[in-house]
Amino acid sequence: MSAPKNFKQLLKNKPIFKPIANNAVPIVYRQRTKEEEKKQEELIKENTKILNKERCVVCGSQLDGPIHSNSAQLYCVADNNHYVVNYSHRKIEYCQTLYVFDMWEYQVIAAATNIIEGIYNNYIYKCDRNLLEKFRYRTDEKEKLLYYQGKMIIQFDKNLTEKEFLEEMKLYITFS
Ligand SMILES: [Zn+2]
Repeated sequence: MSAPKNFKQLLKNKPIFKPIANNAVPIVYRQRTKEEEKKQEELIKENTKILNKERCVVCGSQLDGPIHSNSAQLYCVADNNHYVVNYSHRKIEYCQTLYVFDMWEYQVIAAATNIIEGIYNNYIYKCDRNLLEKFRYRTDEKEKLLYYQGKMIIQFDKNLTEKEFLEEMKLYITFS
């Protein structure tokens, strides 16, 4: 292409840049190399092998869900509400467990505040089964029974009766 003779021609030959909406940063995609792809696949295979051993903390059933190279989102296959867990680099980033009894449900939540040092915020909430599900788990509708920050993720024994669950919870509340 020859040099533009005038301003009009310059504009005509200029590549057109479309304005980007909402100040979005344009994403540049780079093709992964074969080596990188192989490494990713190996990581996924390794993660799957390790995470396949994990079980639902409520009923002991297997977990299912997507496993990626550096994260995973798993849930109980018997009842998705029982147990939901997110992993980041094979460490628990967030997990939510639900114990359902006749009148009440107990939600046990652990959320990493510092995943490297393994510090978690743990909560136990009592939720009223008389309420519709869409209201039941709202912060202002459920009662906070426990808050504990530390290296421990609070977990109960599997397949507990309500009485056993409450006894175990009393211990956690006493020592937290
Ligand atoms: Zn389960």
